[in-house]
Amino acid sequence: MIHGELHQNVRQYINGRWETSATTGVSANPSDTSEVVAEYARADRRQAEAAIRAATEAFPHWSHSTPQRRADVLDRIGTELLARKDDLGMLLAREEGKTLVEAVAEVARAGQIFKFFAGEALRGGGGENVASVRAGVQVDVTREPVGVVGLITPWNSPFVVPAWKIAPALAHGNSVVFKPAELVSGCGWALAEIISRAALPAGAFNLVMGSGREAGQALVDSPLVDALSFTGSMANGERILQVAAARRAKVQLETGGKNALVVLADADLDRAVDCAVQGAYFSAGQRCTASSRLIVESAVHDAFVAKLRQRLKTLKIGHALERGVDIGPVADEDRLAQDLAWVDTAREEGAEHVWGGEALERATAGHYMSPALFLAKPSHRIAREEIFGPLACVLRADDYDEALALCNDTPFGLCAGICTNSLKHAMHFRRHAVVGMTMVNLPTAGVDFHVPFGGRKGSGYGPREQGRHAAEFYTTVKTGYMLA
Ligand code: NAP
Repeated sequence: MIHGELHQNVRQYINGRWETSATTGVSANPSDTSEVVAEYARADRRQAEAAIRAATEAFPHWSHSTPQRRADVLDRIGTELLARKDDLGMLLAREEGKTLVEAVAEVARAGQIFKFFAGEALRGGGGENVASVRAGVQVDVTREPVGVVGLITPWNSPFVVPAWKIAPALAHGNSVVFKPAELVSGCGWALAEIISRAALPAGAFNLVMGSGREAGQALVDSPLVDALSFTGSMANGERILQVAAARRAKVQLETGGKNALVVLADADLDRAVDCAVQGAYFSAGQRCTASSRLIVESAVHDAFVAKLRQRLKTLKIGHALERGVDIGPVADEDRLAQDLAWVDTAREEGAEHVWGGEALERATAGHYMSPALFLAKPSHRIAREEIFGPLACVLRADDYDEALALCNDTPFGLCAGICTNSLKHAMHFRRHAVVGMTMVNLPTAGVDFHVPFGGRKGSGYGPREQGRHAAEFYTTVKTGYMLA
């Protein structure tokens, strides 16, 4: 296998300048661990604090820039992402392990998000002209930028998750300090590189690469950071919330999921199997929206499991750049070890093994695993905890009511899907699934870029991301009275 380009000059972007750091790190290709993808600078707390100060100084300039200027900047970034979706998709596939098809689609979606928010910059956050209850008094409600926002993102979607934070933050006039997950520093830098050429004032956008515990924690602790948007695990999200909310920062969390796909007896079973395969196993199950619980009505349980098992046997697992590969590797050695440990847990708990769950060898040394399927009980840990890997379980339900109850019996509430031909059940499910997003006859993983994204319960906190609703987090409301 020929190695791709080695990115060696991956530096911090602070106050409009590229900076080295005292220490460096490397990211390896999870499809071929002999390949180094990027050698990157690792920010310490001091460097992260310098980025925060730069953002603080830039805020008055950027927040008073015209909406047209903001729109132009975002449009330029979106155009370049779309034009370069193939080479950036290649970088994403090499650094994170998504298949090339998935990776190119992710970069394109990031470009569309910037374009969408270029339009939002012109529309503004949405104000209100209201009548005063007092004679001779005018009153209006306007939205203003929040200030300096800290954006902390995970490794699994290194273009799209940053895009849906950075684009609305800049559109609404905030200055940004962006801390990508260290594992995908090359992708974070590539995105920052495009943003650096979009004619922003120095300091309005800053990139700090480094560990969550040091660079990330600096954003959480700093009194200069007015708002924090975090996407990652529930445990880290809760810790961050406690610290940041205590100093009265605005906080938005997008955390994990334990999403259900309900399959009713009247469903098109082939379609249901497609939804299960795409939802549970594509991107190696490393999606917050992965359908890791397949809740199947008794009457079709065995037929569904048999069809799904057949499909799993046909999936091609391999190098993310190889043509025809359905599932790439998991992101790194630790994740593979965790995923395999979950397979052991499933067996120890007495879940019935149906397929997969083994480490695989391929032509290149990578973190490959066969997609795992178990029949579980609702009390099993594999049916309750987020796994974030290619492992799903099937739960049996007597009828729709039990399926819905199982769907909602989780501390998470991101997304839930149902496969059915019954309009009545589909409509009931949309209303009663306690989640932020529902899907009918569609995979749980797969969302549009211009509508709200987010969850309830342990899956999220604060306003939704994406779409017009993003203004709720990235703006603050001001009410103005004036004697007419
Ligand atoms: P993670 O370990 O919680 O890390 C997320 C980000 O937080 C990384 O940039 C990490 O930095 C940083 N971080 C860690 N500790 C920190 C601290 N004390 N202070 C500040 N920042 C800190 O999550 P992950 O493993 O990257 O991602 C997987 C998780 O993300 C899953 O739970 C998944 O469901 C969730 N996710 C949710 C959504 C959603 O929209 N709901 C979307 C995608 C993923 P380093 O990793 O560099 O140390």
